[in-house]
Amino acid sequence: MPFAPTFARDLFGAGVLLVPLALVALAAQVSSDGALVSAATLMLISLIAVAGVQVYSGNSGVISFGHVAFMGLGAYFAAWLTLPSSMKARMLPDLPALLSGAELDMLVAVFPAVAAVACAALAVGLTIARLDGAAGAIATLGLLVIVYSLLIGAQGLTRGSQALFGLPLSVDLWTAFVCAAVAVVLARLYRGSNAGLQLRASREDEPAALACGIDVVRRRLGAWVLSAALAGLAGVLYGHYLGVLTPRAFYFNMTFSLLAMLIVGGMTTVTGAVAGTFVVSLIVEGLRRFEQVGTIGGVTMPELHGLTTIGLSVAILAVMYKLRSGLTGYLEIDERWRRARAGRATVGAAAPTPADSAGTSGTGIACRGLVKRFGGVTAVADVSLDLRPGEILGLIGPNGAGKSTLLALVSGTLTPSGGKVAIDETDVTGWPSYRIARCGLARTFQNIRLFQHLSVRENVEVAATLNAAGAIDPRAEAAPAVDALLARFDLAELAGRPAGTLAYGPQRRLEIARAAAMRPRYLLLDEPAAGMNQTESDALLRMLQALRAETGIGLLVVDHDLRLIMRLCERVVVMNKGRVIAEGPPETVQTDPNVVEAYLGRRARGGASAAEDRAETASSQE
Ligand code: ADP
Ligand code: MG
Repeated sequence: MPFAPTFARDLFGAGVLLVPLALVALAAQVSSDGALVSAATLMLISLIAVAGVQVYSGNSGVISFGHVAFMGLGAYFAAWLTLPSSMKARMLPDLPALLSGAELDMLVAVFPAVAAVACAALAVGLTIARLDGAAGAIATLGLLVIVYSLLIGAQGLTRGSQALFGLPLSVDLWTAFVCAAVAVVLARLYRGSNAGLQLRASREDEPAALACGIDVVRRRLGAWVLSAALAGLAGVLYGHYLGVLTPRAFYFNMTFSLLAMLIVGGMTTVTGAVAGTFVVSLIVEGLRRFEQVGTIGGVTMPELHGLTTIGLSVAILAVMYKLRSGLTGYLEIDERWRRARAGRATVGAAAPTPADSAGTSGTGIACRGLVKRFGGVTAVADVSLDLRPGEILGLIGPNGAGKSTLLALVSGTLTPSGGKVAIDETDVTGWPSYRIARCGLARTFQNIRLFQHLSVRENVEVAATLNAAGAIDPRAEAAPAVDALLARFDLAELAGRPAGTLAYGPQRRLEIARAAAMRPRYLLLDEPAAGMNQTESDALLRMLQALRAETGIGLLVVDHDLRLIMRLCERVVVMNKGRVIAEGPPETVQTDPNVVEAYLGRRARGGASAAEDRAETASSQE
């Protein structure tokens, strides 16, 4: 069965991870050693939070320091519902009557508490999900500090910095195990879902993900809410396991140990979350014994405060030094097994089925008076250009002429300083690039932008699922189309490899295959033959011709390989210094005096040397 539905595969993967967890829980239970049961329970509760952070940080690539705040909120929200009303009357005078009267069971209270955390996460996520990289991480740090301050400040609701005690002790080892199992399954299902795949693509390269039609902010927001809900669940359990809450418990120390677990194990996989939680819990338990006064082999050891923190730091440093992606790397354990098996089996190349016609209806892409200024440089100055449905248009010009900038303006990667872009008569000027992509426009980039740590297959899949968004299992639905494209672009043999490990030629082909997978009506290619040798460039020519013949797609090809351009294109536009200087069939453009001058510079006028031309080109690129 080559394509088991995605969720069956992921459920299996999650099941594999639950086996060691169940064994740990069983071992603790059988030993009936109180300390061991407690350590195992706390480990399972931590795992829920770590799996939560994994959902967001692992898939989006934005580190979160803020999830412990959601743990704290979950814990306090649930405490408001479960504390005996007599205690609430005494300790929490400001609690609304509705809450102060409630005495719910923890197993009931967990639902409204987690829902409330999810709502809070949605509210702050509307801004935080817009941020990526360092900005996103710092915003989550701010969240941690704000929530801590709120918990301390809201004396009448939380008892401030004093301990809130008396929570019913309703969490045991097996409650923690069941909840951890739920968290692991949810995290794994999310990672394998279409949404998870799209978010992982944005982690690898956000502009490319946007160009594939992915609404990155929406995907980040979804993951943020799910991950916060899991953290909230962990907080509820934590409170009802210890029976006592203080805001301090949900601050930097906890943040540090959860992140240590995720980073040591490997952020990008749920396997990493499980492995890291286990390893770090072992380290912490081991070192904690040395923090107290004790005797080892007859020698009395002094108190060693902070030893566990130091131990965790060393563990993080050691892992980062040797294994940047953590103990488990970028693959889930079951993905590793599957890949090993696929390596042994001979790859039967799927028969290419012609992709559905993209259709030639529509009026084409029309640019009118496009302008783009970067500070003092006008990269594109008043360009009007049409790409008609089904035509292959070449765009050439010396370095720095503004070709790449023009492509960025059309595809929405950059916003024009002036002018208009319309696709099939829809005015798309100023639209974000994922919306323009969904209008039927795909592109590749001059400096290849692949999703490096995703497999070749996943790179194509991300784009192909755009057309299967309504399906129950979009990834399974898109599978035949993906196979056909991999075969068409001669990538079937490489399907399982991480895209970042490919040679230059296959990387270029993969980028085109990914763009074609969106089934666009128009495709913009920025120097697709750059770095290719003659044979590879000839093969590319045939692939592009076949693609057009089968799908009726309109192609705009920028390249310096004039041999390719002249053989491939029906019409050629020449740009220089941000303007269109010539346009027409390849034969006439080649001999146009303006073009000859742009390419050969003053030499054509019988003046300067080639060295001066190069200097001019270089300065125009600055
Ligand atoms: P081409 O693709 O034709 O070689 P580009 O579109 O890359 O040319 O660049 C056109 C001009 O715009 C160059 O002078 C380049 O230095 C400038 N340019 C391009 N992108 C930027 C940017 N992000 N910021 C500032 N200047 C830029
Ligand atoms: Mg360029």
